[in-house]
Amino acid sequence: MVLEFLEAERRRRRAAGLQREMRPVDGAQDAFLTVDGRRVLSLCSNNYLGLANHPALAEAAARAARELGIGAGASRLISGSMRIHHDLEDRLGDLKGTERALLFTSGYHANLGTISALVGAGDAVFSDALNHASLIDGCRLSRADIHAYAHCDPGDLESALRGSRARRKLIVTDSIFSMDGDAAPLRDICDLAERHGAMVMVDEAHATGVVGPRGAGLADELGLQSRITVQMGTLGKALGTFGAYVAAADDVIEHLVNHARTLIYTTALPPPVVAAAIAALDLVHAEPERRDRLRRNARRLHDGLARTGYAVAGEADSHILPVMIGDPDETMRLSVALLDRGVFAHGIRPPTVPAGTSRIRATVMATHSDADIDAAVEAFKDAHHRDTEDTEISD
Ligand SMILES: *Cc1c(COP(=O)(O)O)cnc(C)c1O
Repeated sequence: MVLEFLEAERRRRRAAGLQREMRPVDGAQDAFLTVDGRRVLSLCSNNYLGLANHPALAEAAARAARELGIGAGASRLISGSMRIHHDLEDRLGDLKGTERALLFTSGYHANLGTISALVGAGDAVFSDALNHASLIDGCRLSRADIHAYAHCDPGDLESALRGSRARRKLIVTDSIFSMDGDAAPLRDICDLAERHGAMVMVDEAHATGVVGPRGAGLADELGLQSRITVQMGTLGKALGTFGAYVAAADDVIEHLVNHARTLIYTTALPPPVVAAAIAALDLVHAEPERRDRLRRNARRLHDGLARTGYAVAGEADSHILPVMIGDPDETMRLSVALLDRGVFAHGIRPPTVPAGTSRIRATVMATHSDADIDAAVEAFKDAHHRDTEDTEISD
């Protein structure tokens, strides 16, 4: 039978502890979720500011649905580019400090389309070793030569740049790394780019709405907007909606409108989603206390877990806390033990992270209370003690 490979692959995944399953949750994406009929604390969502089920977003979406409908009808180059898409792009350009912004249907689309529009065969991309899969896939799709440099290592990046004879060069990096929560050395990267005539593309998926005094991201916090060729970010994480943007100078955006196939050949974002994203930007501006709260929660969880003896990597105030375990089976056992104790925190295994670095990726939300964070620490503590009776949790 031709499909025998499915069973072989399944066996291989199971033996390696890498079988994945989707777990149904009931209700909205809130600080608490309902899993198997039980209310559990969510410690795995990218809904950092708690906006995904905010009434202002729901109201904006409902109004847009009534006035503009649900569907965008076609690609924006085909059925007309709706005014509301331009309104959101203007807002994003203002936030990011660029001439223009361009919406994409998702961050995955944005990265594939942008990288493959900027470089091609005969060019070179320089990609951080821990970049998000969508950046890696964008590099592969472009057919440019790919140089993966050691994670957050400007020295390694520089030797790769120095050795390259490519016609065009593009450096791509997450700003806040999705599975590690640490920050890219953007200032060094910009210096190197200028010295070696390279473009820079920064993925602010986990920084948009969260990092910097205005929630504009790491590039804004460091004052580097004018030195970065492309700032990309998503609307589906802290902004609580869906979709993505690329913010850049006018000539870059014009090029993407003409060459980014993931923009040209796909249906535009639904108007209700766009309206909700505008409402989210209003809240990011009007309620900076959500960012402060997020940071405080991050520190509280980081300190609590570190005191409990867990190896928490990354920075102490990062909203992404990688609790390093190493072995995939052990990671998933801890995840199950946490769920038994009322905390929903996913294990992350290869190929999402390198072999030997399986971890619980804990994320905090602005809508968690101090008591919620303390309860999470207690659950980790209890799960640790129970688990170490038969297996060591390695550091
Ligand atoms: C989530 C994510 C993406 C993809 O964004 P989607 O809108 O979910 O497709 C891209 N880059 C990074 C770093 C991400 O974490």
